[in-house]
Amino acid sequence: MPGFEIFGEEERKEVNDVLESGILMRYGFDHMRNGHWKAKELEEAVQSTFGIQHAQLTSSGTTALSTAMAVMGVGAGDEVIMPTFTFVASFEAIIAAGATPVLVDIDETLCLDPKAVEAAITSKTKMVMPVHMCGSMAQMDQIQNICKKHDLLLLEDACQAIGGTFKGQKLGTIGDGGTFSFDFVKTITCGEGGVFMTDNEEYYINADHYTDHGHDHIGSDRGAETHPFLGYNFRISELHAAVGLGQIKKLDWILETQRKNNAVIKAALSQVEGVTFRRIPDPEGDNASFLSFFLPTEDLTRKAHKELLANGLGGNFYWYDNNWHYIKKWDHLKNATSLFPLNPGLVSAIEAMDFNNFKQSDEVMGRTISSLINLSWTEEQAHERAEKMAATIKSVLA
Ligand SMILES: *Cc1c(COP(=O)(O)O)cnc(C)c1O
Repeated sequence: MPGFEIFGEEERKEVNDVLESGILMRYGFDHMRNGHWKAKELEEAVQSTFGIQHAQLTSSGTTALSTAMAVMGVGAGDEVIMPTFTFVASFEAIIAAGATPVLVDIDETLCLDPKAVEAAITSKTKMVMPVHMCGSMAQMDQIQNICKKHDLLLLEDACQAIGGTFKGQKLGTIGDGGTFSFDFVKTITCGEGGVFMTDNEEYYINADHYTDHGHDHIGSDRGAETHPFLGYNFRISELHAAVGLGQIKKLDWILETQRKNNAVIKAALSQVEGVTFRRIPDPEGDNASFLSFFLPTEDLTRKAHKELLANGLGGNFYWYDNNWHYIKKWDHLKNATSLFPLNPGLVSAIEAMDFNNFKQSDEVMGRTISSLINLSWTEEQAHERAEKMAATIKSVLA
């Protein structure tokens, strides 16, 4: 998964271009920047790499999601359906918009269960937000159909699935909007950064303004710009964009390497009786940044995870007990704990939710281990790790 494993000359050259001109900001200072517009260039690279009309870079994946909420018109009183297994940023963006996150079960795809989505729709539902977790995709055909049938917006949180596809379409470009994160641990990284992608021109123009305090970006004099609406500073810096420009050129190699290393681990674990694998709706489209697998029971899974770590096999994650990724430990959400008063409608909606009734998600996540696939392994190291993992799990299941 992490692009940071492969920093090299490419990233250094792009960053040096920026440092030499000294213009670290993406807008203005036209005559001082030696023609360097790294953020603009990275947006164009995102557009051509992923086949999308418009890309708006942001300071993070979280602010890309917030930008999506704003330009897609999601706010107070609206409900957004999202999965129980994701990263906390997914509900942070919904709550920051003043909208209500409605959490629903995942299935063995580790992504939204379409049946659970349909069951959660109310008159207040405005958007469905599938999250393509750990490099692989939600059942986008079914989710798309549900959104069409009920006239709902579809926003893909593809922050963890850069380069993945579903039936030939790039993840993040299938819905009305999509986001990537370029934070430090993602498939390609800017250090910090993100992008909102859409084919909708109005969304894009508004995203361009919204992420820069609502400035209208008309004309070349920033001081003369007006504010058609409220916005924030969600800008990416030229330095961060420069790192991303170096990285995005390596995406094909990253995906190829991940897929190769992933297959080595999978082949070894396939030999262990009792190990089964995450259901991937389109196996060819897996970005392969993780290999996620199931063991027969929660007890055995917890035990196997412990043994893997004890045997020096880091990079194996048991999300079920993890503070960041699974609903079980999101007490701050469940209690609506906030530093400042939240809107009363949102608080009562959260209080009315039954957070303990996700048995299907618990049943899946309790038995899931996700194994991070590194780019820096030699072939020998990948095979060695695969054998060691298989032997460890075999001994626990014996
Ligand atoms: C990383 C991540 C985000 C947020 O990205 P940041 O750039 O860290 O703000 C959002 N959603 C998911 C699923 C993520 O993994």
